[in-house]
Amino acid sequence: METTTIAGAEVSRIGLGTWAIGGLEWGAVPEDVAIATCLSAVDCGINLIDTAPIYGHGRAEEIIGKAIRLHGRRDAFYISTKAGLEWNERGVIANSTTTRLRHELEDSLHRLGTEFIDLYQVHWPDTRIPIAEVAGLMADFQREGKVRALGVSNFSVAQMQEFRSVAQLASDQPPYNLFERAIDSETLPWCAANNVAVITYSSLCRSMLGGRVHRGMTFDANDIRSADPKFQEPRFSQYITAVERLRKFARDRYGNTVLALAARWVLDRPGISVALWGAKRPEQLDAVAGVLGWSLDSAALAEIDRIVTESVTDPVGPEYLTPKVRED
Ligand code: NAP
Repeated sequence: METTTIAGAEVSRIGLGTWAIGGLEWGAVPEDVAIATCLSAVDCGINLIDTAPIYGHGRAEEIIGKAIRLHGRRDAFYISTKAGLEWNERGVIANSTTTRLRHELEDSLHRLGTEFIDLYQVHWPDTRIPIAEVAGLMADFQREGKVRALGVSNFSVAQMQEFRSVAQLASDQPPYNLFERAIDSETLPWCAANNVAVITYSSLCRSMLGGRVHRGMTFDANDIRSADPKFQEPRFSQYITAVERLRKFARDRYGNTVLALAARWVLDRPGISVALWGAKRPEQLDAVAGVLGWSLDSAALAEIDRIVTESVTDPVGPEYLTPKVRED
């Protein structure tokens, strides 16, 4: 496994994403399979496990807690969880009030069955509260010893600057994959210049680049992909055309899969620390080995760009994931 450091801790450059394990937005996942997926990740050399209270409304954190207990060694896991999203009948809402975050921290520690969280991230900015105030509270959590390092997710550079004026900022977690590159212009250079680790989410573009999604595929109404504009026609066909061409390129040029090409692309981009990989079955991690031990050359990077630009004429980003603004 390739490794890097976040605030002095050694972590795997591939991290397990546990949104799907929560069992709400990607179909049900039996508990034994979910736990086995976490344990398989550790067997593959992955120690960074990314989660959040919103994933399965606490269930993903509980699963990780059970996996840690079964494994027996807390130090085999680098737990990266988050705070600042609430869910109710209105949907998902950004909420970083002090009451909410204090409550979430205690709940996460309890569900994970741990005395400390390795990396605690603000999941989304709450635009109704000053970032500096939230950062101050997160720094308190760190001083209290309940949290080792602090991160943010889905923050702009200006928001990260404000956070960093009050607390040590170890990491940022933005969306990034070869179809979604909004962070290239400002976020990546700023993070590199300020020693902020970048942990990318949706590295496989929410399965589009996994190799299993095919032309004409349909998704259940409660599957997040039925709300993802990339998976709706006429765009879906454009993205699938790109995936088909990338698959052929990966096979002809590297004798590898489109999934390996996509994950390697993220890992090879300058300034990327960790690529998260969402999995809900142990077998999905068999592909990890194919991502390691090689890299893309400049001709390959240019060809990938050409394929994406030619195939996807009406691109769309992951903005549909943005939570609602608090009303109270
Ligand atoms: P992703 O990693 O881009 O894609 C995950 C999907 O790829 C899986 O559900 C699976 O689809 C498919 N896949 C995985 N392994 C595969 C394999 N071996 N062969 C074929 N397909 C495979 O998805 P993501 O969930 O958006 O991102 C990963 C993690 O990032 C999440 O779990 C979460 O921890 C984090 N995240 C954070 C935020 C944030 O706001 N901070 C937002 C989104 C995600 P199938 O289920 O169809 O098999």
